[in-house]
Amino acid sequence: MIQIDLSSKRALIMGVTNRRSLGWSIAAKLQEAGCQLAFSYQGERLRGELEKLTDGMEGARLYQVDVTNPDELAAMVSDLEGAWGSLDHVVHSIAFAPREAMDGRYIDTTRDDWVTALEVSAYSLVASAQALEGLLTDDASMVTLSYYAAEKVVPKYNVMGVAKSALEASVRYLAYDLGKKGVRINAVSAGPVKTVAARSIPGFMKMYKRVAGMAPLGRGVDQQDVGRLGLFLLSDLASGITGETVYVDAGYHVMGMDLDDV
Ligand code: NAD
Repeated sequence: MIQIDLSSKRALIMGVTNRRSLGWSIAAKLQEAGCQLAFSYQGERLRGELEKLTDGMEGARLYQVDVTNPDELAAMVSDLEGAWGSLDHVVHSIAFAPREAMDGRYIDTTRDDWVTALEVSAYSLVASAQALEGLLTDDASMVTLSYYAAEKVVPKYNVMGVAKSALEASVRYLAYDLGKKGVRINAVSAGPVKTVAARSIPGFMKMYKRVAGMAPLGRGVDQQDVGRLGLFLLSDLASGITGETVYVDAGYHVMGMDLDDV
């Protein structure tokens, strides 16, 4: 029987708000596999929830890191270096776009909103990989979270779709750079899942129901589905996979047309 044993491994999860967060769903699977965990959260307001979630989790480390603040990122890396010395896995589960940029037409996106969305949702992966590179073990692995709007137009997703395209392209370039050392990086492209970030997307529930109705599996996906794929990609079971965007969307993205349309 193949078992994923990560009992000698250490992982950093960046971007957990609560137990519905996709970052948490992967963290929970890593914990089940025996991995030791550290978390970063955006700001003071989120610390209490994370403390509750990690209560009783032996050796868990918590860091406040707003990814637009290089000093907070550097302070975390320096503390991790002192405490752990190395890192086996990184989960990047961070995205943000101002609400107004996702409520109208893409053509009306302001420069500031475009830069903010791309900085927080795509550049943060590059900045994190850059800052953490020295800590990564020779067979380390990273995952980030993407969405179908990187590839196809999803109305209202707008600049976030463009940010996800940049994120997926960054995964490929980072795979090339880090691959020389043996480090892998992949993107998990999840179908709609009910989380705090998802609820801020206009029309999210409509999108959720449509995907579930059209997907080959006849359902949507949940945190368990996403957690399992994250664990797989981070583990040695995916030892030959890097630079890839892997969908976990009950098959929705392979459909070209809804049955109701024909
Ligand atoms: P979430 O709200 O639980 O997580 C998003 C996290 O991003 C939050 O913890 C937030 O604090 C963090 N964040 C935002 N700006 C930040 C900043 N400046 N610095 C540090 N952290 C910051 O929601 P989620 O749905 O779990 O989102 C996680 C990832 O999954 C995102 O990249 C999202 O785009 C992606 N995703 C979500 C879905 C979905 O339907 N929920 C589908 C596909 C992909």
